[in-house]
Amino acid sequence: MAGRASTAERLGSDAFDTDSASHLTLSDPALCRTCEKKPCIQVCPAEVYHWESERLRISYESCIETGACRVACQSMGNHALIWAYPAGGKGVQYRLG
Ligand code: SF4
Repeated sequence: MAGRASTAERLGSDAFDTDSASHLTLSDPALCRTCEKKPCIQVCPAEVYHWESERLRISYESCIETGACRVACQSMGNHALIWAYPAGGKGVQYRLG
């Protein structure tokens, strides 16, 4: 469809007002070590989650707030993820919806 932005174009147009503290935290990082599927890594379209040196690295600065990781962790993971919106209106700012 002419004139309609692709998903990549929409995501590329996003701006971020990054908080100094992560809004995505873990109740216990040890739960991630025994999490068999680590679905948060698979479902996040912004690739916020990475498994490195036996720990989950969370690049919260890139979060687009879909909440997919929360659902995945609760339904297929070890329930370690504590999900919240960024404080004070910070976080992603969509430009193209
Ligand atoms: S799905 Fe939850 S428990 Fe599993 S690695 Fe991700 S945050 Fe950790």
